[in-house]
Amino acid sequence: MANNDRCLFCRIANGEISARKVYEDDDVFAFEDINPQAPTHVLIIPRKHIASMDDLGDGDAAIIGTTLARAADIARTLHLNSDGYRLVVNTGEAAGQTVFHVHFHILGGRNMGWPPG
Ligand code: 5GP
Ligand code: ZN
Repeated sequence: MANNDRCLFCRIANGEISARKVYEDDDVFAFEDINPQAPTHVLIIPRKHIASMDDLGDGDAAIIGTTLARAADIARTLHLNSDGYRLVVNTGEAAGQTVFHVHFHILGGRNMGWPPG
């Protein structure tokens, strides 16, 4: 499915719900997280509605690769790359996924603990 009318992140990418846009192109949309967990906290999503990493199909390899490449571009544009940054993909409820449209958290601007909570 290319889009889901009831999905919050599809609606943000469509412009139906406002968000602080960081980057967009034909394949991906990136915006600031409404509840930032670091000085920089950007979410990047493929425009294609995929509920979670557990819903990826063989045909999704290219779009996920593109999304990751654009995440790296955004991190460089925001100068997160010099000190380092973290990409997070919560998958499923026990991992903390609350929005079921696959998204990569780009977190930077502070030191990160390991292991994550
Ligand atoms: P998850 O918990 O699924 O890994 O991440 C969902 C993220 O979406 C959370 O960090 C949450 O703060 C963010 N979020 C939820 N609703 C909205 C919204 O309406 N706008 C924006 N910009 N971020 C949202
Ligand atoms: Zn969606």
